[in-house]
Amino acid sequence: MSSSRLHIIVIGGGIGGLCLAQGLKAAGISVTVYERNPSTVWPEGYRIHINPVGSQALHACLSPVLWEAFIASAGKPPAGLGFLTEQLEDLLVIAEEFMLRRTSRAFDAHYPVSRIALRHLLLAGLEEIVCFEKTFERYEQTPDGKVTAFFADGTQARGDVLVAADGANSRVRQHYLPQAPRVETGVVGVGGRLLLTEQTRAWLPQQLTLRMNLIMALDPYCLFTAPFDRTHTSAEAQGLVRERAKAARLNPDLLVDETQDYLLWGFFTHRQSYPVDLQPLDEPGRLAVVGQMTERWHPVLRRIFAEADPGSISLNPLKTSTLIAPWEGTNVTLMGDAIHNMPPVGGLGGNMALRDAASLVQVLIAVQSGTMPLLSAISTYEAEMRTSGFAAVRAALGYMQQAITTNRFARVGSRAWFRLCRAMPACKQMVEDRWAQPMRSQPDKAIQ
Ligand SMILES: Cc1cc2nc3c(=O)[nH]c(=O)nc-3n(C[C@H](O)[C@H](O)[C@H](O)COP(=O)(O)OP(=O)(O)OC[C@H]3O[C@@H](n4cnc5c(N)ncnc54)[C@H](O)[C@@H]3O)c2cc1C
Repeated sequence: MSSSRLHIIVIGGGIGGLCLAQGLKAAGISVTVYERNPSTVWPEGYRIHINPVGSQALHACLSPVLWEAFIASAGKPPAGLGFLTEQLEDLLVIAEEFMLRRTSRAFDAHYPVSRIALRHLLLAGLEEIVCFEKTFERYEQTPDGKVTAFFADGTQARGDVLVAADGANSRVRQHYLPQAPRVETGVVGVGGRLLLTEQTRAWLPQQLTLRMNLIMALDPYCLFTAPFDRTHTSAEAQGLVRERAKAARLNPDLLVDETQDYLLWGFFTHRQSYPVDLQPLDEPGRLAVVGQMTERWHPVLRRIFAEADPGSISLNPLKTSTLIAPWEGTNVTLMGDAIHNMPPVGGLGGNMALRDAASLVQVLIAVQSGTMPLLSAISTYEAEMRTSGFAAVRAALGYMQQAITTNRFARVGSRAWFRLCRAMPACKQMVEDRWAQPMRSQPDKAIQ
């Protein structure tokens, strides 16, 4: 089979699109990313949890210096995942050894990272590849096997493959797969940050500052907490990567950010469980409603809401992709939230976008080298992406529903089950397996 020179058009410069561009660039495949926002705008500055699936994909796509910068700027890996009552009683703790998958391989571990730092890393060295302020409007597939993207400013771009990495409200998906709408789950989340300072660390228990937790209340409400507590200060992290970054002609100052450490929290429940509509309320008003709903919770948890940074409060109606039947592969394909968007319960969406990026790089390398025809490569990628992506959607919906079920017997039963698991290792293993399942598969295996 002869080799052919490919040009890939990526719509959307988010987590997935930029990781894909890094991987393609490293493989010598021509790529241009079109991002609607200006270079200075990056939605949501929150921490993001990278699990082993995401780590492996980043490791596969990033250059060694960027991978080192990723490790240097990441937070401390969480000391496990705890399931707690609203009175801070530990029901069950999935321990650190499990979170680290009993391995010392850096690319096989969990990392909390700042989205801003991750974005800087993913953009590094792509100055010639990412075009900002380009809002995609539509595409046309032409009989010569090419595809043309049209942008709001009247410009267009032509390539061999168009990849939709344009996130949850993907315009490409709306045209290409109109049968795949994104729908409301009926669940609404309120999120915020409590800065980790000397004062707050003095009253926060270690179970909250060292590990991730799901607080499963007797009422059908759930609270997720996760610390972003960096291993190195910004100055230390810069020192660690400075020389290698310079050698790779990258600006070391841009590879780490100045984010202060914090405890991230997310409270979520069914829309109808809120006593009022949160939409018209301002941040203090939304916090007051959460405070009112959690009146009987442990004072430490209530203080986390009360002392949250007001500017950090966000309101998130949780939505999900719909599962659709397989479609025939063409030179338009999708990745990440553009096809398998899910509620952020379980922290899987970004990891799956990274995984898609690594898988797509592998098949496109095979096309470029002439060992695979383009459409078989896209179909192979999509078959695996659908399986793993929609498995993650199902897992996230399952976690969400279990956490806030309105069936009181089920809630009491879950708490009893977790207490039993704490006492019986065989049962605990089952819980660990359930929570680990969507995080286990390896990106490299995707195309075998
Ligand atoms: C509160 C919250 C917490 C989360 N926490 C985690 C976590 O801990 N771990 C995890 O794995 N995931 C997490 N997620 C999910 C994660 O953020 C997403 O799954 C991930 O960002 C998806 O990456 P993506 O590249 O597919 O899309 P995005 O990162 O959304 O990127 C899409 C890009 O496309 C651009 N774009 C959109 N439309 C156009 C257009 N018409 N033309 C050009 N550009 C366009 C956008 O500006 C954006 O830059 C969380 C989500 C939320 C809301």
